[in-house]
Amino acid sequence: MGFAPSPAKPPRAENLVDMKKTIIRTGLETLYFSGMHHWMRPLLGGVGAILTLHHVRPPRDEAFQPNRLLEVTPVFLERLLRRLKRSRLDVITLDEMYRRFIENDFKRRFVCITADDGYKDFKRWAHPLFRQYELPYAMYIPTSFPDRIGELWWLALEYVVARNDRIGMVINGEQQYFDARSVREKRELYDAIYGYLRSMKTEDAVRKTVRDLCATYRVDIPEICRDLCMDWEEIAEMADDPLVTIGAHTVNHMMLKKVASDATVRAEMEMSRSVIEAALGKRPEHLAYPVGDPTSAGPREFRIASDLGFKTAVTTRPGVLFKAHADHLTALPRLSLNGEYQKQRYVKVLMSGAGTAFWNRFRRVSAA
Ligand SMILES: [Zn+2]
Repeated sequence: MGFAPSPAKPPRAENLVDMKKTIIRTGLETLYFSGMHHWMRPLLGGVGAILTLHHVRPPRDEAFQPNRLLEVTPVFLERLLRRLKRSRLDVITLDEMYRRFIENDFKRRFVCITADDGYKDFKRWAHPLFRQYELPYAMYIPTSFPDRIGELWWLALEYVVARNDRIGMVINGEQQYFDARSVREKRELYDAIYGYLRSMKTEDAVRKTVRDLCATYRVDIPEICRDLCMDWEEIAEMADDPLVTIGAHTVNHMMLKKVASDATVRAEMEMSRSVIEAALGKRPEHLAYPVGDPTSAGPREFRIASDLGFKTAVTTRPGVLFKAHADHLTALPRLSLNGEYQKQRYVKVLMSGAGTAFWNRFRRVSAA
């Protein structure tokens, strides 16, 4: 890895990512096998949980898949849906979840299933499974994606690293070159550049850096959007199904906390709602913050979403739901179904609330 000589060294994302993965994995394994989540359930289990999906598609052979955590297989999803169908949990819509919070109706524990970004693979592989099991889900659409001008920069970066053996880029004002021959080098370089981008102070800086890389290495950013994301016609077909709720996910899928202007943040949320309403004839009442971790959505975003009248808004902060979230309906946590951990027992532990309780140091509401 060649980032070291740079004077202001970018964060060593690869180590952090590996460490976090290991903690999550060993943490969950330990909890599962010790059976600890069973006795913690009444204390930590909360009233329900919101699950997050992105891509659903059959596994691919490539060794270099830095974004694999964003996809699960149809087989995994089917097992999950079957299990939920047989369980004593209610699988409910976001509107019904909102009602339960407002009316303080927590007689039964519930799960909401959500999917972000509007990928074609979800329509092809996941939607038929939800129909088969007659379970509802919500899909959050960033309107620039069906408008075909979305910048899926994390995938553009993947393509640049996958297709080149040596990559040059300006890091902290200095041109540097990195080897990306072996799969290992590619993984390390991807994680380091990804971490460097995520550490940038503004969304504009992230986009500019990725656009420059793509121009140099001839990766067509809009083509990624056309290949992977549904167009409005496909979304409309899906949205016709009463099992499906369409939610807003901003226009340009920006990390809103890195956008200086309050007015821009407001416009991103408000315009995406209007565009979806114009395209589908139904006004979205629920929102997901792009990326959604604490560096992408914070108190300002939670307040603006609430001011704009969204019934609920979801983050990607990990956690289960408690009654106290009734006062934080625009800062809800979710549990991401991560492609790196496609074992049903992980889902079980996550939903018990034990895994994320450790992660959140036993604080129930994370809305700061
Ligand atoms: Zn997204």
